[in-house]
Amino acid sequence: MKKSLEKFNELVDAFGRLPGVGKKTAMRFAYFVSLQDSFGGLKLAQSIEDAVRFIKRCERCGSLSEDELCDICADESRDDALIAVVESPKDVLVLEQSKIFSGRYFVLDEIDDERILSLKNMIEFYGANEIIFAFTPGLNSDALMLFVEDKIAKDGLKFSKIAQGVPTGVSLENIDMLSLLKAIESRIKA
Ligand SMILES: [Zn+2]
Repeated sequence: MKKSLEKFNELVDAFGRLPGVGKKTAMRFAYFVSLQDSFGGLKLAQSIEDAVRFIKRCERCGSLSEDELCDICADESRDDALIAVVESPKDVLVLEQSKIFSGRYFVLDEIDDERILSLKNMIEFYGANEIIFAFTPGLNSDALMLFVEDKIAKDGLKFSKIAQGVPTGVSLENIDMLSLLKAIESRIKA
């Protein structure tokens, strides 16, 4: 390529590093935002900058937030008794979109003493009595659940996991809403 297209090529490379975007799509995106809709392109650049600068992790649950506490942790109308433990902040977005869960969330994306302590603190804070593991079903997640359960077990705290309709190895974001609803309603003792 000519050197005069250096900036365009940089943009193609940048899009190409996004998950699920191949070279062709990256070219289409770059062409679109630099020529076809340059105003939209500038808005997109601004949105990306704002998101990168302002979005962080909620100090209590670990999901995405623009403040110290996310909207869900700060929402007094949520059901304090239930905490769904998920693998990624993305799973919180998926479950929230489905509007099927009214409890609270905890993002356990790293298994270390600090995260386990944060989970214990959260259980204490809300006085929760049921932990629902909403992990991608599979052998690894079963082992993980047992491990976490062992660390946080106490009298009066029940454990369950989402069950039916969630195929082994499929992450929550790829499950249709109806299956997710069934999975949560029919949760079984972990
Ligand atoms: Zn939170």
